[in-house]
Amino acid sequence: MIILLEKNLPPAAAAELARAVARLLPGAAVRRSGQQLSITAARPQRLAEAAPAIENLPGVEKTVLSDAELCPLACALPKQVPSSPLDFRRAPVFIAGPCAVEDEQSYLAAARALKAAGAHALRAALFKPRSSPYAFQGLGWPGLKIISKAKKLTGLPLVTEATDTRQVQRLAAACDILQVGARNMRNYELLKELARSGRAVLLKRGLRATLTEWLLSAEYLLASGAKKIILCERGDALARPGEPLLDLRLMAAAKKISGLPVIADPSHASRDRALAAALARQALRAGADGLLMEASPNPYSARVDGRQTVSIETFRSITGK
Ligand code: PEP
Ligand code: MN
Repeated sequence: MIILLEKNLPPAAAAELARAVARLLPGAAVRRSGQQLSITAARPQRLAEAAPAIENLPGVEKTVLSDAELCPLACALPKQVPSSPLDFRRAPVFIAGPCAVEDEQSYLAAARALKAAGAHALRAALFKPRSSPYAFQGLGWPGLKIISKAKKLTGLPLVTEATDTRQVQRLAAACDILQVGARNMRNYELLKELARSGRAVLLKRGLRATLTEWLLSAEYLLASGAKKIILCERGDALARPGEPLLDLRLMAAAKKISGLPVIADPSHASRDRALAAALARQALRAGADGLLMEASPNPYSARVDGRQTVSIETFRSITGK
């Protein structure tokens, strides 16, 4: 941690400040050079904990923590650990399905077709976070038997979103990977509950979230016991003209810093099926470990996000199967 001192702080006040910092962080090394103090601690978590109190001390301009100090668990992961029921070590992993499970017949048909077209896991969304309360909210619990049938039929793992802490245990009993939607990346109680479920967690980057905020959410999961995390870049939706739909630079940085697998969701990033297919290829070329993609045999009759759902043929052309 770097502590920037106020301009023109007298040397005696700076020395007093260094002593006050040392009292707040017993055992930490405090070094002074010019207008800053550099602090190192054996447990970096203590730096994040003490930062607000340090910022409150007279003479402090601000504190600066590196990502490794803010997210010590997320930044210290061994590289390329198989991190979920999916194996990211060899080739891109494809998670696909309709936006929402709508009915048994169409979902089972989609599951079969997607498996044949190269899907390694199924989107199996029962609870949909929708911007409008009048929009289809997902089938909810009655859909559980449909997705369980699809799993039995195809042998593919299920990826489903929990939108509320109360759903976690029951979803975890039936599904393999629990998804944190973009709207919930900052829902810390949900993150803690998901971590406790023991299931792998797919963590989307929140809207307009910075790399550090995203890593901090992964840190919440790890600090609460999660062992398997997949990061998913899904763009900002509100991207202004000229801004990228998927932040591939941020995706690459997240992968490098955390060592976690990072996949991309070109569907929600583009909201357009033609663009989604192009973005999918672009993300793979940029090193994405896989894709979370809306695909189904009947995108034109989907109740939700049909415009960004690609056909089975297009999906197959992306997987190369
Ligand atoms: C989804 O993948 O089903 C979804 C709702 O996406 P996001 O959270 O990225 O909006
Ligand atoms: Mn969708």
